[in-house]
Amino acid sequence: MADIMKAPRGTRDILPGESERWELLNNVAQEIFGRYGYSRIVTPTFELTDVFQRAIGQESEIVQKQMYTFQDKGGRSLTLRPEGTASVVRAYVEHNLGASGPLPVKLYYGGQMFRYERPQAGRYREFWQLGVEVLGSDDPTLDAEVISMLNEFYETLGLKGLVTLINSMGCPECRPAYIKLLSDFLDSAEGLCPECEGRRKTNPLRIFDCKQPGCHETLKDAPKISDNLCESCERHFGSVKELLADAGVQTEHDEMLVRGFDYYQRTTFEVQSGNLGAQNAIGGGGRYDGLVEQYGGPPTPAIGFAVGCERILLALGDNIKGEVAGLDVFIVVIDHTMRKDAFRIARTLRAAGISCDMDFTGRSVKSQMKQANKRAAKSVLFLGPDEFEQGKIKLRNMESGDETEVSTDSLAGAVKGMLV
Ligand SMILES: [Zn+2]
Ligand SMILES: [Zn+2]
Repeated sequence: MADIMKAPRGTRDILPGESERWELLNNVAQEIFGRYGYSRIVTPTFELTDVFQRAIGQESEIVQKQMYTFQDKGGRSLTLRPEGTASVVRAYVEHNLGASGPLPVKLYYGGQMFRYERPQAGRYREFWQLGVEVLGSDDPTLDAEVISMLNEFYETLGLKGLVTLINSMGCPECRPAYIKLLSDFLDSAEGLCPECEGRRKTNPLRIFDCKQPGCHETLKDAPKISDNLCESCERHFGSVKELLADAGVQTEHDEMLVRGFDYYQRTTFEVQSGNLGAQNAIGGGGRYDGLVEQYGGPPTPAIGFAVGCERILLALGDNIKGEVAGLDVFIVVIDHTMRKDAFRIARTLRAAGISCDMDFTGRSVKSQMKQANKRAAKSVLFLGPDEFEQGKIKLRNMESGDETEVSTDSLAGAVKGMLV
């Protein structure tokens, strides 16, 4: 016998039972994002490697360790996307989306991302993200709208006990002076992990991202970016907080929140769920006002977020049910020479919007009934030769057990009548 093959480490199959939860998540996203005026964008699963290097930054853990990069047969360096923003910005610039309509342009996406990481609960090497990107405005109202929409998304799904951490990462105006201040502090700091020792020179801000307790402890005494904002960033951050409070969104200013991508500026945020333990971030994002220019586009302020679907489903637990939808009708074929009649009846019912299925394997009536129960069929049609010849079929209501003989001419109507 041939070996049974398994999906690669860090990937998984989403099977019926789970896929319904999945679809629900995507439908809620589509409904809510649509209500806020977003349109869907679909970008390729892989891009030229430079697309990600440019946005995420050479120093980042993603670029250094986690990307699935390969050379194609034409000798190009390609990378499976590790996140969504870079591709959306690349597409925005390539198709000049900013010129074709009023700003801001509101886009959302959903799809697989790929990162070579150590697999753990709710974390996979191929994982699904939903995200939005809004390009063309730096107004704090937009930041507040994006963050409150994210909260509405979680609330609609039934997630409770959420906290949105929020911070400002400053802008090219105020950040250099702050970096200098931080570097001075780090020069005399002790207890940094080897990796952060390296970052100290290249990108000290990224040390805030380190999960090592020693580094975290050291940084508690470090100067904070939010205490060193320029007047305009200060005002922007103040407005965002005020608008969010006004919208009833629970936020907490976390002055240590500095998200790991180079492109973030000003508002940055992360939503945490109390249900997930240490790995409790279920989504986050921020403003990336300089990124479009890095891709050769015009100066275009922008903001976005991404949420990890696996982590949301994990946090939701049983709050979101993955029940396979029951069939309206199962057709039990008593005489198997009549399968082509069953096929015709199934077509008629489906055309009338009734979900139905039938036996395809020549099982006994008893095991067809078992199958009907397993499929949670609300009714069963018994297709027997004698009645059928007289233009009749027996219809059983599976809930009440009541049976009636219905005419083959008005089958769809009879089934619909029974389903009400
Ligand atoms: Zn500033
Ligand atoms: Zn560290």
